[in-house]
Amino acid sequence: MPVLAEVISALDALWPRGTAEDWDAVGLVCGDPDTPVDSVLFAVDPVAEVAEEAVRVGARLLVTHHPLYLRGTSSVAADSFKGRVVHDLIRNGVALHVAHTNADRADPGVSDALAGALGLRVVGPLVPDSADPSGRRGLGRVGELERAEPLAAFTARVAAALPATAQGVRAAGDPDRPVRTVAVCGGSGDGLFAQVRAAGVDAYVTADLRHHPASEAAEAAGFAAGGPALVDAAHWATEWPWCEQAAAQLDAVSDRHGWALRTHVSRRVTDPWTIHAPSAPADHDVPTTTPGAPN
Ligand SMILES: [Zn+2]
Repeated sequence: MPVLAEVISALDALWPRGTAEDWDAVGLVCGDPDTPVDSVLFAVDPVAEVAEEAVRVGARLLVTHHPLYLRGTSSVAADSFKGRVVHDLIRNGVALHVAHTNADRADPGVSDALAGALGLRVVGPLVPDSADPSGRRGLGRVGELERAEPLAAFTARVAAALPATAQGVRAAGDPDRPVRTVAVCGGSGDGLFAQVRAAGVDAYVTADLRHHPASEAAEAAGFAAGGPALVDAAHWATEWPWCEQAAAQLDAVSDRHGWALRTHVSRRVTDPWTIHAPSAPADHDVPTTTPGAPN
């Protein structure tokens, strides 16, 4: 059975820490490097219910995509929800390791898993990593469907392929517009519109799209210059496929070393949005108020 330090070094080979963004906080958060590890749980968010799940399934290591302390801390006292997570993990002998923007940039990375879930054949990164001579690492991915389908069908494909969330999936664009080439970026991707436009794809799948960038992209798509249709899914859902990909990668490492690790993937929906109320059917335009009526 490997010790934690050996498993962490295998994970660092998959997602090198040096490729993380400067502002990021990746690597081992808690855990004793000399502790034997026989079981690992993968999840997107290091939240209380995921820590509880790690204890319940007997994991000795919890690997999450999102950092617990992105901005650092001077206390891990259990009087805050993050400190409580640290205490629960340590008390139960569970280590926590984070692979965030280093997993985004890796080959394969978070967006490869998203593209794969959607049935896209990946052509390459949306923003190639200039430090990678193979041209395979970087942010986002560009891929293509086997055959074009209308945007409405493609949106339904995304909704069916990703785990269900309260948010669901929404799209901006002509429902009949054909979609064959697609850019994807797991997590918040509205900072990559310029690169998506330059890629000349039919659609862009990501999360957390804000009104103004989305509105401008949608207007540009209808204008002479063209541009992609936008497909917006829940942040957690766009990154969750990475957990299965990561577990399979660690399984392969474990097989190679004869470690006999057990890997688990959390299926708990930790997207923070828990309620979705569809609007009542209405005319496309907001109803006008009666003249003279108070509004
Ligand atoms: Zn994320």
